[in-house]
Amino acid sequence: MLTPYEIIRKKRDGGALTKEEIEFFVRQYTSGKIPEYQVSSLLMAVFFKGMSDEEILHLTRTMMNTGVVVDLSDVPGCKADKHSTGGVGDKISLLLAPIAAACGVKVPMVSGRGLGHTGGTIDKLESIPGFRTNLSVAVYKRILKKAGLVMSAQSDSLVPADRKLYALRDVTATVESIPLIVSSIMSKKLAEGIDALVLDIKVGSGAFMRNLDDARELARKMVHVGQLFGKKVTAYLTNMNQPIGREVGNWNEVVEAIKILRGELAVDDVFALTKTLTSEMVCLCTGESLLETEKKVVKAAGSGAGYEKFCEMVHGQGGDMRFVERPDKYKKPKFVGEVKSSESGYVSSIDAFKLGMAAVKIGAGRMNAGDKVDPVVGVSVLKKIGDRVSYGDVITVVYANDSARMKPAVREIHSAYGFSESKPQELDLIIERIG
Ligand code: URA
Repeated sequence: MLTPYEIIRKKRDGGALTKEEIEFFVRQYTSGKIPEYQVSSLLMAVFFKGMSDEEILHLTRTMMNTGVVVDLSDVPGCKADKHSTGGVGDKISLLLAPIAAACGVKVPMVSGRGLGHTGGTIDKLESIPGFRTNLSVAVYKRILKKAGLVMSAQSDSLVPADRKLYALRDVTATVESIPLIVSSIMSKKLAEGIDALVLDIKVGSGAFMRNLDDARELARKMVHVGQLFGKKVTAYLTNMNQPIGREVGNWNEVVEAIKILRGELAVDDVFALTKTLTSEMVCLCTGESLLETEKKVVKAAGSGAGYEKFCEMVHGQGGDMRFVERPDKYKKPKFVGEVKSSESGYVSSIDAFKLGMAAVKIGAGRMNAGDKVDPVVGVSVLKKIGDRVSYGDVITVVYANDSARMKPAVREIHSAYGFSESKPQELDLIIERIG
């Protein structure tokens, strides 16, 4: 008979777990029969000892099969999704999903909540009053058929193993593990019933993968697992050495996305990333050239068709459209703090991890599993890498509802910035494509 103790010990000593051992551990944990202290130990052992490709495949399949695997064969058209490994200020899904839907792709998106210092699409969407993310499979399919896109949290029935493991990893410092990230993301994506998937693997100070080699390995493993399941998968390595866009938080990020979709705001990195990832997604579905697809995507974004799809989705999921139409209606955070430049010159670096942690500490994310997220608090990043600054210029603004949390956040963000006398080299936003 298998015991959790023996399985933990085997992984601790660098052994490869069998399919049976993986299935036993995951299933027993999911049904509440293995305590969290033993699961935490196994997670830490995997963190240090890793897993072979075969173990990762068994883990992904076992996790996927702990819940329903949605059958979307009765939804006409190609079903595609995008998933990011997590970043700071990453609101790309909010733009990409409706724009891809406007281009004719069906987008059944299952997203996560904030993890560690990174934000989560579901927390962002839930900042829209009334927006429901906990959908039954029937409702999920109905909205997808009607609007062409649906953005849902993991329901209790979709990969319950990952829901529990994700929360546990978040508080046991076991997030940054390639086998655990691959199995977590791919089990959810494969359970969605998609035909194609674009992966955005973030690299840099605000990513779980700090260096390019790890990110490349993660991308290759995810693409490989997806292909073994018969899906069309492409991965992009993208730069996460500074926040994406100008807003970090929840509601403020939704507003940024709405304004871009409405053509009221131009934010270069957000638009460039959205264009690349959306085009790839559409391309995987249609087989058209990337150039043709990019034109289609730019047109859908510029014509307001993407915004219309966003509104259809928010309306379909119960969101209060008055807040989408007039984002300024929302109550404002009580306290506003300014971070000022301590030098004159150029912004040469921003530690996106520190900035993300500052946002978490003011309540935009969770310090502990089960913490409530404050939807309106956040950070506006006024100066980014390459911007000119003078001594005393405001470089970021912090919005908080708890004055005691303001000072440490301002201090942390201040320490996240580096300055130089000469203009730093521009960062490559898109680093590599792995298909
Ligand atoms: N996003 C996920 O869904 N899982 C991870 O492990 C990391 C990012």
